[in-house]
Parts: sequence; structure tokens; C-alpha cells
Amino acid sequence: MIFNADITYDELYSLFQERVRRNEPLTRHCALGVGGTADIWVSLESRKELIGLVSLCAEEHWPLLAVGNSTNVLYADAGVRGIVARLALKEYRIEEHGDGTALLVADAGVSWPLLLHDLAILGWGGLEFGAGIPGTLGGGVISNAGAHNSDLGHVLEWLEVLDARGSNLESEDQISYPYVRRYQHDELDLSYRYSRFRAKRQARFDGQGPLIAPQRQMIEPPEIVMLLGIRLHREDPRRLQTIIAEHKMHRKLSEPPPHRAGTVFKDPPGHDIDSLLEQIGMKGRTHGKAQISTAHANYIVNLGGAQAADIAALIMEAHHRVHDRFGIELELDIELRGEWDVR
Ligand SMILES: Cc1cc2nc3c(=O)[nH]c(=O)nc-3n(C[C@H](O)[C@H](O)[C@H](O)COP(=O)(O)OP(=O)(O)OC[C@H]3O[C@@H](n4cnc5c(N)ncnc54)[C@H](O)[C@@H]3O)c2cc1C
Repeated sequence: MIFNADITYDELYSLFQERVRRNEPLTRHCALGVGGTADIWVSLESRKELIGLVSLCAEEHWPLLAVGNSTNVLYADAGVRGIVARLALKEYRIEEHGDGTALLVADAGVSWPLLLHDLAILGWGGLEFGAGIPGTLGGGVISNAGAHNSDLGHVLEWLEVLDARGSNLESEDQISYPYVRRYQHDELDLSYRYSRFRAKRQARFDGQGPLIAPQRQMIEPPEIVMLLGIRLHREDPRRLQTIIAEHKMHRKLSEPPPHRAGTVFKDPPGHDIDSLLEQIGMKGRTHGKAQISTAHANYIVNLGGAQAADIAALIMEAHHRVHDRFGIELELDIELRGEWDVR
């Protein structure tokens, strides 16, 4: 079946009105401020809307990419064909256990910075290590996001996904509808910047050659995180606010301003990517309007008008030179999405 963006837009407009947009510039949405256009961009505000849209895409064979705040995505200059659905599902509740602990049950689209602000006021600790991580909880669990020697895996108990793997496999005349399933912590393969959801979905380097984006699937990712259960504990609100302020200050002193900047690589085991790139003189290196940050070399900064291809060129050069000098194979943390053809 051929995807017709105009017809799809009309159908989606009747469901989502002004929350759906045609030919939406991705530069407006991603942290790095690059990328072409999405054929269709839609913002989803409830699990019901998400289930409805994914089911419709499965039925109609419409390509769909689900994202959070796009702070760990590098969109291609050629954009994204099909629908990009931003998960803006923002509800959460706190179930107190009466022993100084609680379970936070949060939608995947809950923004980490906004949540931290609320939890600090309410005196619930557990997630403050992530002060300054600009994404959503759902996006965070994909990479097991973390900082200050902790990560989401330390506090996550379970999560619920919308499993659309069957919709990606079936032929056109056999629709397999997505369904909700729950994973417990131990089923998620959580480790340093990794979860089971990243298997075969990360860009890789072809030896010392090009960067290869993962193969696109019709419903991408095939398992979409909808709800998370996270352990919290009672903490003095003033202490929480102090910890958050300290973490933010640490970032301010050691990282570039977050506007139009993004983290790129994982730290290789036993090494610090900032120091590796500094040793080979990559700090401050530019390609077009993209620059490896002078403040912290794991950030690339869009100086204004950078292309995604400029960022990819810096990534490939850094990968190549680190391998040449140290024999270390760098891995990407940022994810390439859209119509990439990097050579
Ligand atoms: C200034 C800055 C600082 C950062 N600091 C850190 C840091 O200290 N530590 C760290 O770990 N990261 C850091 N990051 C990276 C990034 O913020 C995190 O990885 C964040 O958790 C990504 O969340 P997101 O909502 O933006 O995900 P997105 O970028 O929107 O998505 C990332 C990937 O997850 C998928 N995805 C998103 N939501 C879902 C969902 N609900 N279900 C299934 N798949 C989903 C997307 O399809 C995409 O493949 C930083 C980024 C920036 C720009």
C-alpha cells in the first residue's frame, strides 16, 4: 500500500485538529535543531490516542515513528517519511506505601525536568540524579538514561508497552493489532545506556567507513513505552532542591548551554569520551555550522544553520580518529532517524 500523506493528513486532522501538521520542520523539535520535514507531525496526549493511532497505522499500513522530546535523535536532512508522533502523554500519580516509599506511575511522555520540579516540592526522591536531562521518561528508558552514577534502571520497577511487533510482520491482508503488555525490570536488559528496546535499532559504523542507520520499520519503535512504574522515597524537599541545584550547576560549569546542543557518544568502558576527543584535538572542531563543543567534547553544538550531515561528518571523523589513535571502537548514544544515506 502506498502512503499518501495528503489523504492521511485529512484523516488525522479530523481526529487531532491543530495538533496535526503537514510538512513540519523537524528543526523546531529536536535538541540539535537539524533535520528536514516530517510528512506529518502529530502530538498525542493520552494513551487512548496512542493506541488509536497505532492501530490505525497498523490497519492502513501507514509508517509511524514515535518520539519523546527528540533530545536523543538526529533527524536526517531528508526528513522523515510518514507520521512522526510526539508522545506528549503527561499524567502521573503517586501511590504511597505508608513506609516512606511510593510508586510513581507515570505516562511515558512525562518530562523529566518538569517532574523533578514537582517531586522536589512534594518531597519525593529517586529521580534527582537526572536533573538536566531534557527528555521524557519514555525516551529515557530506551537508552537507560542516567548521570551522577545512577540511571533509570536503578529506580524502574516495571513498564507497559504497546506491542506492535506483529503489525510490522504481517502481510497487508492479515492485520495484527497492537496490544498492551507489561515488562518487569529484570526483563528489560538494562545496562549502561542500553535496554532491550535498543537491540538492532542503533546506528553503527561500517568498519572505519560510513555510518549506517538502522532499517526502518513500519511502526517504529515496534514496542512503544506507554507507562512506567518508578520507586520513590521520602526526602526532605530542601535537600532535594539543593541536590538538583548542584547537579544543574555542575552541568552549567562543564557542558555547553543546552540550546541547540546534544550528547553524541557513549563513554567507552574505562574511558571518558571528553578526554579521548581532547587528546586527539577534536574539541572545537567544526564541520559546516556544527562544532564539537569546546566545553565538553561529547556534545555537538549547532552554531546556527548546521545540517544533520555536518553533525554526521563530525561523528564519523571522531570515530575514525579515536580508533586510529587508541584502537577504541566508539558507540553512538544518539539515534539516527529518518531518511539517512550517510556515505
Ligand atoms: C543538553 C542535553 C543533555 C543530555 N544529558 C544527558 C545525560 O546526562 N544522560 C543521558 O543519559 N542522556 C542525556 N541526554 C540525552 C537525552 O536527553 C536522553 O537520552 C533522553 O532520555 C531522551 O529522551 P527523549 O524524550 O528526548 O527521547 P527522544 O530523543 O525523543 O527519543 C530517543 C529514542 O527513543 C525512542 N522513544 C522515545 N520515546 C519513546 C517511547 N515512549 N517508547 C518507545 N520509544 C521511545 C525514539 O523513537 C528514539 O529512538 C542529553 C541530551 C541533551 C540535548
